[in-house]
Amino acid sequence: MSRTATIVGAGIAGLSAAAAVAPFFDTVTILDKDELPAMPRPRKGVAQDVQVHILLKGGELALEKLLPGARAALLAAGAVEVRQTGDVSIWEHDAWHPSRDLGHSQLLMSRPAYEWVLRRKVLALGNVEIRDNTPVEALAPEGSGLLVVATGRGDRLLASLDVPTTTLGIEVGYVSARFAKPKRYRGETRFIACIPKPPDDRYGLVCPVENDEWLITLCSRFDNKVPTDLGGFRAYATSLPIPDVADRLAEAMPLSPLRSYRIAEANWRHFERASGLPPRVIPIGDCISSFNPTFGQGMSVAAGHALALREALADGAANGNGLGQVAAAYLPRAAAVSEQAWAAAALADLEYPRTRGDRPAGFDRTLLASEAMRLAATEHPEVHLLRFEIGNLVKPNSAARSGAAARLVAKTLIRRRGE
Ligand SMILES: Cc1cc2nc3c(=O)[nH]c(=O)nc-3n(C[C@H](O)[C@H](O)[C@H](O)COP(=O)(O)OP(=O)(O)OC[C@H]3O[C@@H](n4cnc5c(N)ncnc54)[C@H](O)[C@@H]3O)c2cc1C
Repeated sequence: MSRTATIVGAGIAGLSAAAAVAPFFDTVTILDKDELPAMPRPRKGVAQDVQVHILLKGGELALEKLLPGARAALLAAGAVEVRQTGDVSIWEHDAWHPSRDLGHSQLLMSRPAYEWVLRRKVLALGNVEIRDNTPVEALAPEGSGLLVVATGRGDRLLASLDVPTTTLGIEVGYVSARFAKPKRYRGETRFIACIPKPPDDRYGLVCPVENDEWLITLCSRFDNKVPTDLGGFRAYATSLPIPDVADRLAEAMPLSPLRSYRIAEANWRHFERASGLPPRVIPIGDCISSFNPTFGQGMSVAAGHALALREALADGAANGNGLGQVAAAYLPRAAAVSEQAWAAAALADLEYPRTRGDRPAGFDRTLLASEAMRLAATEHPEVHLLRFEIGNLVKPNSAARSGAAARLVAKTLIRRRGE
């Protein structure tokens, strides 16, 4: 192919892309506008990095394929391993998920720490260099190497292209801070999520992270705003339908200021259908699809895109194709990765009547089927496991269409329709 690959953006997508392309090029150069800290610290270019970031199981598995030893490196850097569901308490709509051993665990840490670990893993590949303090203002149309655009949800480099885009007006607000645990909670590795039933829009998350600290996030939608002063933040937590978040927050000491982040829109740019994208230019991560982050999908989707890129490069190498054919092989595969995450997030978003966007044909039926799966998962361990694996991008949505678990969901659906 060619000897060099350049990646713009050293976020999770850029780092995953570097791991994917490194075996195919002599040198890989990642350019980022930020100064990249020597230790895990928030940075300006990733304004969302102080908010809770969940790595889905599917994302962890994808990263391990891209960077063997990633899981061990995350654990060595202090990631908290939470067993599903022994260490996880999820209140969804009006009930707790049952406590069962699903045979999976997940690794939780702060977003700066994930990125720091991956940065070191990528640099250890030997042919990757990262140049920070290097903003890229425009793409050079000439040149012979691969050019990966991993500039995130605010991408400007591909803004002039006419790309068909699906947009949802979601108006989600996040407020988060790091907290020291009070003595009685030290060593607790419980992840708590409070996910309301629409139209209620008050979410709460308690996420154990490195150094035995908590990252606590409270969310809202539309006109509802989470207060950014500690008293108001604690009071908002007491308005959640479960006491578990407020109880922990009441005694926890903030270690960082409360920081807010508002997301007006979820966007999915369909580059696979766009004309005008130069064939050696590869968009990845949030630059393609940026979701409502409540479902913790973005980093895992970025890793999934990177695996798709690696497959496209491997196919190209096996067939003797040049770089000009990589985008055509990669973009439909990346779209399939985005599609699964988008479908789950959009379903939940569109259940809120105020969400702006097209409700697909049969939306009410899809919603009923999804609710049937949630209810069946409380009764049947095999449905619980399947729901976890689909939601965590370990299995495709199609896994819910056949097999024993699918039959149990269908029975619940029929029962619900009869009620
Ligand atoms: C509030 C919030 C909460 C989230 N929670 C989760 C979660 O729980 N789990 C999850 O998986 N995901 C979550 N996400 C999404 C997640 O942050 C992203 O999906 C993920 O980081 C992948 O993004 P990326 O690498 O494509 O872009 P980013 O992480 O935004 O990185 C883009 C990089 O490009 C650089 N850059 C941008 N423009 C230029 C330029 N012109 N020149 C040079 N460098 C440039 C930036 O400095 C940055 O380093 C959340 C997002 C938000 C907003």
